[in-house]
Amino acid sequence: MIDTQPQVKQTEIFSAMSELEHEQLVFCRDEATGLKAIIAVHNTMLGPAMGGTRMWNYQSEEEAIKDALRLSRGMTFKNAIAGLNIGGGKAVIIGDARTQKNEALMRRFGKFVHSLNGKYWTAEDVNMSSRDMEYVRMETPFVTGIPESMGGAGDPSPVTAYGVYMGMKASAKKVYGNDSLHGKRIVVQGAGHVGTYLIEYLIKENADVFVSDIFEDKLQNVTDQFDVKVADPKDLYAMDMDIYAPCALGATLNDETIPELKCAIVAGAANNQLDIEDKHAEMLRDRGILYAPDFLINSGGITNVYSEQQGNYNRDRVYQQTERIYEVCTEVINYAEKNETTTHRAALQLALNRINDVGKVKLGY
Ligand code: NAD
Repeated sequence: MIDTQPQVKQTEIFSAMSELEHEQLVFCRDEATGLKAIIAVHNTMLGPAMGGTRMWNYQSEEEAIKDALRLSRGMTFKNAIAGLNIGGGKAVIIGDARTQKNEALMRRFGKFVHSLNGKYWTAEDVNMSSRDMEYVRMETPFVTGIPESMGGAGDPSPVTAYGVYMGMKASAKKVYGNDSLHGKRIVVQGAGHVGTYLIEYLIKENADVFVSDIFEDKLQNVTDQFDVKVADPKDLYAMDMDIYAPCALGATLNDETIPELKCAIVAGAANNQLDIEDKHAEMLRDRGILYAPDFLINSGGITNVYSEQQGNYNRDRVYQQTERIYEVCTEVINYAEKNETTTHRAALQLALNRINDVGKVKLGY
């Protein structure tokens, strides 16, 4: 029975939505499968909202909501700066992916995605695989990142890693005068999908790579394949390194870690790396650390799934488009320098310029 006189105790959600300028927040709950998910639609000015689904064992609902709001907003800027005609969205599923993720849960989630009728398109993110997207696809066509055997583009992580690599090289060019990563001490935090493909590029360039992960099996997988050293997660930030590549979760650039960092560059795949965006971007700048904006350099994955969503997937074209991250990252660095602002602000501004420009064409979904 639906309660006809509900007691609404929580009113802060609308404040949070208006603070970050969200259009819509969808709460999905299903008793039978145990699904608890949140779909956040941030902005549909350039097209339908698009962004991956993350499953995480959040400590509180507030933490999950905050993550959905932050991540979906990040997608708006990422999609815009990547030159794509899609808006920003993201979904989070609350729970332990190792024990609670199964076909029924993913398909029930797919039904919720379908209920938005194409306003939100999903894909994979942390703790999600192409197989999971296959389950979602059983219930809705509004999903990308499905296996190639089903007509999809497959796992976007290799393209994401390529874009991060491009951004890292553009940053190296600025800091060292050339973009070679040969001999550079690079710490990759997170030996997951993207981290592993990134390590492959770095090793090919003879970089001195260190890796950390919270799971032994993930570490084993990379140490079996590549000549890398394992970094102790406890001492990671204070390590003597040239480049820190966050490829795990967000908010690792914060009040505690930034003063410890000894690197010259931060360039990684993780979304929302800056705990408090402006404050921590400024702290990095003040410390003389060049920060390659996360939402720019990790946009290869969304470029990949966008091509899939458009229905004319072409891998070569996706890699060409992703290679542009090098140019755009250079443009961002130069813009920041010229306007005496942070690279984070500069990237936001360039993304906003595109939303405003293309918004004039009235492509609103
Ligand atoms: P993943 O789940 O495959 O890998 C994340 C890895 O980080 C896991 O191995 C996990 O065990 C590890 N990890 C978690 N907490 C850690 C910690 N405190 N220290 C060290 N390791 C830790 O995810 P992924 O697809 O590789 O994505 C990595 C990051 O990049 C995420 O933030 C994701 O949002 C972002 N991203 C991914 C893509 C993509 O194409 N997959 C695209 C854009 C952005």
